[in-house]
Amino acid sequence: MIKSIKRFFRKGEFDCGDVADHSSAYIDNELKDNKRSAFQAHLSKCGPCQAFVDTLSSTIGALSRLPGVNAPSALKRSLLDRMHREN
Ligand SMILES: [Zn+2]
Repeated sequence: MIKSIKRFFRKGEFDCGDVADHSSAYIDNELKDNKRSAFQAHLSKCGPCQAFVDTLSSTIGALSRLPGVNAPSALKRSLLDRMHREN
């Protein structure tokens, strides 16, 4: 998480790992405007991440809105990896 924050401030844009790190916050509308823009900018040029966020919001996103349930980051990572391999 620290590494991705440093990366964000250095380049001002998200990479695929940042998308994975911020996907839950994005789906829950908890990202600040500048991060939300960076997130969406990455999605606009990365099909696999679009598919990842779609899948996450329709499946794991629903889960994570239940009290006390959080999608483990390892699960999000493996989902993201799978999306990128399939494309
Ligand atoms: Zn990506």
